[in-house]
Amino acid sequence: MSDFNMFCYQCSQTARGSACTAKGVCGKDALVARLQDNLIFAMKGISAYNYHANELGARDEEVDEFLTKGLYSTLTNVNFDAADLIQLGLDAGEANFKVMKMLKEAHIEKFGEPVPAEVKVGAQGGPAIIVTGHDLLALEELLKQTEGTDVKVYTHSEMLPAHGYPELAKYESLAGQIGGAWIDQKKIFSEYNAAILGTTNCVLIPKDDYADRLFTMDIVKVPGATVIEDYDFKPLIDKAIELGGPEAEELTTITTGFGLSTILSLAPQIKELVLAGKIKRFFLVAGCDTPNPRMNYYREFVQELPEDTIVLTLACNKFRFNDLDLGDIEGIPRLLDLGQCNDAIVAIELAVALCDLFEMELNELPLTIVLSWMEHILWTLLYLGKTDMFIGPVLPAWANEDILNVLVGNYNLTPVSTPKEDIKKIMG
Ligand code: SF4
Repeated sequence: MSDFNMFCYQCSQTARGSACTAKGVCGKDALVARLQDNLIFAMKGISAYNYHANELGARDEEVDEFLTKGLYSTLTNVNFDAADLIQLGLDAGEANFKVMKMLKEAHIEKFGEPVPAEVKVGAQGGPAIIVTGHDLLALEELLKQTEGTDVKVYTHSEMLPAHGYPELAKYESLAGQIGGAWIDQKKIFSEYNAAILGTTNCVLIPKDDYADRLFTMDIVKVPGATVIEDYDFKPLIDKAIELGGPEAEELTTITTGFGLSTILSLAPQIKELVLAGKIKRFFLVAGCDTPNPRMNYYREFVQELPEDTIVLTLACNKFRFNDLDLGDIEGIPRLLDLGQCNDAIVAIELAVALCDLFEMELNELPLTIVLSWMEHILWTLLYLGKTDMFIGPVLPAWANEDILNVLVGNYNLTPVSTPKEDIKKIMG
């Protein structure tokens, strides 16, 4: 946790003209300052999903109203009530639930519901464009414009689930995946002689050796990159052709695209296997990846899980383990990739369906969530009343002991320890 008791420099009263780091000149204490930070971070995620849902023509007035109220609640001399700021965290969870649902429905309406897809990983030779970020609409427009050319379009990081959507997978130019989570982009983009498109957050300021091949669009701006205007990808496609592309390499495969309907079609079989004791527990192992070596926890955790467990995953920490062959349990794959971070809504809808299937409450299900911290997703799960989750391995700098005590005391959250110890604790 952070060495600072607090850090606030949001107003002109700030201590020594730099920052209030012990107590606010305005009277704000560390707990309130940190809970306000939490709210801002949760709203960042909600705003990103809301922005992309709006691009697809979907709007929710209540989400917009929450974003205004939530941001206003973080201003100087307006809300010093820690309990209310925790409630606002839960309200953020509710707003995030709504916005994820809205975005998922908009994705399904436009691109169809995902179906499992085996994706080739690696360069296949010839002119190439690598697309990173989360914006499926941008990818669709690019695929339309590359169709009929020799240019191959590869997904990177959170774009991987695009391969599961029928209305995106139908394009021949959608060739495969290159690289893993956002954290490898400097290495991958340097290594592959391709044009690159950054569509959303998780794009890094480029190294000089690929800045002139990097294109961004819309809200994404980084020094040295060319901005695409009005979905006109001609400069990007021309660059890919000019470069000639990377050499073909040996390919591997990974599977993505487990939509809700696909999994629910297996519900009777899943029920039978659970009742027969052949599936003991489901795990949702998900979250954002970071370069911290402690994130290897996730690979070890999944590797150590007993063979009678099923792993659901989403967001980019899955690249820590989605190359593992976990096999299947009588035809049910043990590793099910549900999609991007916003597809946490699929996991939630699946959990609700499992509650119906087994006539159990959410916290009675044989389901354990292990989450690398994403404020908005965590608060959605807390808003839904989910308890007993494992979080970590790195806690966010805004959390202090008081906040952690609330999360542990009210929701029985457990900061992760070692994969073996945690699995022992969970499986009994
Ligand atoms: Fe300091 Fe309060 Fe201003 Fe923050 S809002 S900088 S704590 S005086």
